[in-house]
Amino acid sequence: MEALVRKFGTPLYVYSADQILERLTLFQQALAHRAHLVCYAVKANSALAILRLLAARGAGFDIVSGGELERVLAAAPDAVSRVVYSGVGKTVAEIDLALRSGILAFNVESEAELDLLAARAAKLRTPARFALRVNPDVFAETHPYISTGLRQHKFGIDIRKALALYRGAAGNRWLQAYGVSFHIGSQIRSAEPFGAAMQRVGKLLAQLRRSGIELQAIDAGGGLGIDYHSEHFDAPAKVAEYAAALNQALDGFAGRLLIEPGRFLVAQAGALVARVLQVKRSGSKTFLITDAAMNDLIRPALYQAHHEIVPVQTRAGKPRIVDVVGPVCETGDFFARDRKLPPIEPGDLLALLDAGAYGMAQSSNYNTRLRPAEVLVEGARARLIRRRETMADLLAPEIL
Ligand SMILES: *Cc1c(COP(=O)(O)O)cnc(C)c1O
Repeated sequence: MEALVRKFGTPLYVYSADQILERLTLFQQALAHRAHLVCYAVKANSALAILRLLAARGAGFDIVSGGELERVLAAAPDAVSRVVYSGVGKTVAEIDLALRSGILAFNVESEAELDLLAARAAKLRTPARFALRVNPDVFAETHPYISTGLRQHKFGIDIRKALALYRGAAGNRWLQAYGVSFHIGSQIRSAEPFGAAMQRVGKLLAQLRRSGIELQAIDAGGGLGIDYHSEHFDAPAKVAEYAAALNQALDGFAGRLLIEPGRFLVAQAGALVARVLQVKRSGSKTFLITDAAMNDLIRPALYQAHHEIVPVQTRAGKPRIVDVVGPVCETGDFFARDRKLPPIEPGDLLALLDAGAYGMAQSSNYNTRLRPAEVLVEGARARLIRRRETMADLLAPEIL
């Protein structure tokens, strides 16, 4: 870390390519006995180098915007035939780009979107493969901002309405019913809700079959969570449990199983390295002020998320209770509150762990701060995959 920081500065995102690929392999092996496709959810970390890394090992992609499709086209154009396109608000331009690019399937989130897709497909004379993203109405324990599988959420189509929509689409020559999809939320720690959702989708499949509609694929979405607190996370056991829950509920379905993991593949492969600028005492509180801030990693501010923080070099001495904060003018700009950490001095480096997912991807330029550089470690080699932003980058779009 020190060598990387000497070369590339701080704040710095550092990712392990080996760990990302290990995680991908876990999913691929757990589903190896059936036709399957692991579609990495690009929004978790959309670095081009990471997309290329995953595509080279056969991964597909789950995208939620035309911009993410452009990323796949830039990083791994051959993988476009393994792209599924989710999202509640697709524009005409985005749909047209996806149709022309030849993606695998659209995950359609409303009746109006299905009509729009049919119209664009007819206009471009390009058949559209689609899956209805159904809302299975299952509750999954997670932060309310990232729970999506209940009827009250904006996502998906009420599963009770899906049958009628598939029947309606069957008469349209520009629409091909490829599959059915669901995504019940993110950072879900238990396998049980995935099985429950799959069971409901299984019932829909049986109804469809009775209506003469045979779907080729089920897309079970993403959402498998990690443990942000523990050093001893058993990823193979988690994947095995998850795959078992899906497989059990799938029983009898001979088609293809798609999954869309994001966080599980990249979160624990990444750290955000920051330098401590100052140690400030105020009343009974001690603040470690770092050169990274909420604009670089917003998860603590946005989701009350926990990230383990470790000094890159440990010093001898008694641990202290501290707040780790950034320099941004917001009280919400913190990484940890009342955290017990070993002694830390100004100039020391801190690593914020498990920051590979929804870290850089949700970063911003708030407070006119330049976003961090990113480094990918592959075996014994490390290379820059995104240079640090410059002031020229930031000012370029502005007009005086
Ligand atoms: C965000 C998202 C994912 C990935 O979720 P993770 O929790 O990162 O696995 C997958 N599918 C869809 C439709 C999403 O919106």
